[in-house]
Amino acid sequence: MSEVRSAEAIKPSSGLATLVLDGFGTNVNMCFQCGRCAAGCPIAYAMDYAPAQLIHAIRLGMEEVVFNSKTMWLCAACETCTTRCPQEVDVAKVMDAAKILAVKRGFKPALGSIRAFHRAALSNIRRFGRMWEAGMIVSLKLRTGHYLKDADLGRKMLRKGKLKLLPSFTGSRRAGRIFSRVERAEKEESQPT
Ligand code: SF4
Ligand code: SF4
Repeated sequence: MSEVRSAEAIKPSSGLATLVLDGFGTNVNMCFQCGRCAAGCPIAYAMDYAPAQLIHAIRLGMEEVVFNSKTMWLCAACETCTTRCPQEVDVAKVMDAAKILAVKRGFKPALGSIRAFHRAALSNIRRFGRMWEAGMIVSLKLRTGHYLKDADLGRKMLRKGKLKLLPSFTGSRRAGRIFSRVERAEKEESQPT
């Protein structure tokens, strides 16, 4: 007689799978490799490993493969994969977990421009309390040196009034407090117990 086993009954198969379960509450061992997540992912065409393959690599504890992958850095966090999974694996959260664990382990993102984008976006939000697109673009160009890339797109956005030339500082104090709290929590977490 067949038996349906719950997420609690299925133990993680590797140290990496355990880290994802303990730190992010998602049991990758529930995955039975149906591929529905990968089939629905709008970015899968650009990824080096489809979401289902990355999940499988985590199950096998293949840290080098997972942490050097481009997949999680390209993920747009749209959650289509999570919605489609018949086993209730939160695939989008696994993507976040892979990013966070990769950075904690000292792996550089496989795509340098994405690292620059994350840094530019976070410093922009911290300073202005919300995304100021024009400032974000300048900061990104300075970090990457790609000064003319997407210049036509920028001009079109300006013409349509989609780029504000001056920032608003609404919420900047609150954002600053949130960033400081997170930094303190991270420092505490990294202290030896
Ligand atoms: S949809 Fe769920 S069960 Fe299917 S491959 Fe993706 S994670 Fe695994
Ligand atoms: S959340 Fe990421 S991995 Fe999932 S479908 Fe969207 S882009 Fe693909």
